[in-house]
Amino acid sequence: MAGMEDLYKEIIMDHYRSPRNRGELLSPPATRTEGFNPLCGDEIVVYLIVDDGVLTDIKMTGQGCSISQASASLMSAAVKGKPLSDVRERIDTFKALMTVHEAALDGEASDAVDLRRLGELAALQGVVKFPVRIKCATLAWNTLIQGLEEISPT
Ligand code: ZN
Repeated sequence: MAGMEDLYKEIIMDHYRSPRNRGELLSPPATRTEGFNPLCGDEIVVYLIVDDGVLTDIKMTGQGCSISQASASLMSAAVKGKPLSDVRERIDTFKALMTVHEAALDGEASDAVDLRRLGELAALQGVVKFPVRIKCATLAWNTLIQGLEEISPT
């Protein structure tokens, strides 16, 4: 398991050091949604363009701890170019990952969440061991949800 944890740490540091989809989009046509995690001081701004039910572009700016910024980068890579139905599925899976607490400590998280389907997002599963950091990891996702609500209310 130590090997996996090192790999996960590496993925998180890689996304923190070279964040994917960093930048701004002209708004409009893009929506601009701000998220803030007062517990840690993390800030995220998410720009979204949805065209014909597909999240065609996503860009982000922000600052904060490595977990918040790496999670934002991982999220953007996971949802960019995907149909909204896939995007919402990813969001649900990620939220499930963040709510598997004790099971994750026993290494049984894979029973509740299929880690293989998550790809690099699985790297964030270690965060559930540190409840105070969960808000850091979910900030970008909650901001994405808010942005999607503005575009197409559910
Ligand atoms: Zn944070």
